[in-house]
Amino acid sequence: MGFEQFGRLSFTSQTKTSAFVDYLEQGDLYATRCSPCGLTFFPPRTDCYSCLGSEMEWIKISPRGKLISFTRSYFAPTGFEEDVPYVLAVAEFNGTKVFGRFKEGFTEKDLSRGMEVTVEPITFNDGRISYEFKPAS
Ligand SMILES: [Zn+2]
Repeated sequence: MGFEQFGRLSFTSQTKTSAFVDYLEQGDLYATRCSPCGLTFFPPRTDCYSCLGSEMEWIKISPRGKLISFTRSYFAPTGFEEDVPYVLAVAEFNGTKVFGRFKEGFTEKDLSRGMEVTVEPITFNDGRISYEFKPAS
């Protein structure tokens, strides 16, 4: 599956990080880590803004993390209009911060900072794939 099938709306089909979608199809979320300086990037990058290196390794993100912040969105950008309202969140997984949406049905009332969450792939009705958070069980 190509990058054009990632998320609700893709603006690019070709990218040096397209392996991200392949990993996601297999059920895992991956980031990249700069080999020379050790910075980790999510979303994955193939060029480091710190040391300007391009030697990256793929690292699997732990499926269990902690919720850092969240908000409920009532207005959506192009491609997401049918989905509002939804909860956007930032969670940290072994030091890697991941931005994403919470599973449908959860509201801000169900969430609290520091709570344990998991991240997992989701396939939308139109076949596109992404990932979402949900409370850890
Ligand atoms: Zn670097």
